[in-house]
Amino acid sequence: MKPLDQYEVWFLTGSQELYGEATLQQVAADSERIARSLGDAAAVPVRIVYRPVLTSATAIAAAIQEANAADTCVGVIAWMHTFSPARMWIAGLRALQVPLLHLHTQFNRDLPWAEIDMDFMNLHQAAHGDREFGFIETRLGIARKTVVGHWEDPRIPARIGAWARAACGWHEVHRLRVARFGDNMRHVADTEGDKVEAQIRLGVTVNGFPLSQLTDAVTAAPDDAVDDMVAAYESDYEVAPELRPDGARHGELREAARIEVGLRSLLTAGGFGAFTDTFEDLGGLHQLPGIAVQRLMADGYGFGAEGDWKSAVLVRLFKVMASGLPGGTSFMEDYTYHLDPAGPLVLGAHMLEICPSLAAGRPSCEIHPLSIGGRSDPVRLVFDAAPGPGLVAGMTDLGDRLRIVANTIDVVEVTEALPRLPVARALWRPRPDLPTAVEAWLTAGGAHHTVMTRAFDPEPLVDFAEMAGIELLLIDETVNLPAFKNEIRWNQAYHHLARGL
Ligand code: MN
Repeated sequence: MKPLDQYEVWFLTGSQELYGEATLQQVAADSERIARSLGDAAAVPVRIVYRPVLTSATAIAAAIQEANAADTCVGVIAWMHTFSPARMWIAGLRALQVPLLHLHTQFNRDLPWAEIDMDFMNLHQAAHGDREFGFIETRLGIARKTVVGHWEDPRIPARIGAWARAACGWHEVHRLRVARFGDNMRHVADTEGDKVEAQIRLGVTVNGFPLSQLTDAVTAAPDDAVDDMVAAYESDYEVAPELRPDGARHGELREAARIEVGLRSLLTAGGFGAFTDTFEDLGGLHQLPGIAVQRLMADGYGFGAEGDWKSAVLVRLFKVMASGLPGGTSFMEDYTYHLDPAGPLVLGAHMLEICPSLAAGRPSCEIHPLSIGGRSDPVRLVFDAAPGPGLVAGMTDLGDRLRIVANTIDVVEVTEALPRLPVARALWRPRPDLPTAVEAWLTAGGAHHTVMTRAFDPEPLVDFAEMAGIELLLIDETVNLPAFKNEIRWNQAYHHLARGL
């Protein structure tokens, strides 16, 4: 079964009546075969649904309205097997409300040199038809991804798969509800933002709830549910002796479990897919939620600490885009550096809240003091993140728009013991190197909170930014600092103009 099997992408083929019935039947058979092949590809995480060949403006507009209205349809692929006069597409494309991928392929890979005649030329005419279609997409200013190549080349389903992941993320953020328990950390700037703009741009709804509601849910957590949660901790993690049933601090483990039961019940009842909290406003909670937040992220919830709802949205978005892929995804913070010129590194962590989906081994469940927050010691999972390539991304609000800054990274193995650092952590080398990447990040005004994923390369995020019309500044091995600074300046002008008066 596909990891995002509940979602469909509709495969639309353009043609026209001029060709006659026999040719159109061939077009339909070829398109259906391509749609089936793409749908069968492991790299494509959604179902690909073949739709009847479109030969008139009326049929095109109707198909697109149907795609808009179908709740399971997260996007459409369009391909012009033959020529399809593009004025027929204007009404449909202007009505399109789901992401578009323009597939530029041809049924036959090779020219049949000895047999080729004008009938072949007229049937396999994407080289011509897709240019006509590309023109009208550009003329109408339609955001899309263009994928070029023979449909049996594995790079084609891989690129379509990345886009389909982004389309599922786009679908998700439009339904996403974020619960905020407490406001942003006092005086902090980069976690602030315009919730109205985020709702206009991404569809996401972000609302605050009183801490008393969370405290009440925790107080009301049934004892048997707390028992089950404690049992889950004991089976999933290496629980520290002092937290075990016969240990001196078992009561504090039960308190942590009670917080998780209460938080989960509230999120489930409200249909929330992401949440924030803050150590500055914990109401009647006895501990800052640690293990609860970590486990909720592992189950796919978005989370941002210190009221950071933008990071909560990104974590949830990345969780959906990463569905079914190996490698974890978590809220993250650039915490401190190893500035040895021989190999500078970032040590990322948070006070507690890093998702165990990143863990290299079985996490340990521990309790230690937290120097800020003024509550009891919180229970948390402690682990090192598994090494390998990854991506970090943060979203900031520049006042007139949202900006995502992303950096490709290599998480490295933690080879030193860290006996006095009782939190989950990740150690990584930014690409192309720490000084270049961080100079670019600071120049771009990138956030101090990020989402980290080890599940995918930047392609789904690039596709998502295109769908959302959000600025994305990508720092990777090809970054050139003078060009990057110019890109920021030019983007500034572009986004002012694109916004209009
Ligand atoms: Mn933080």
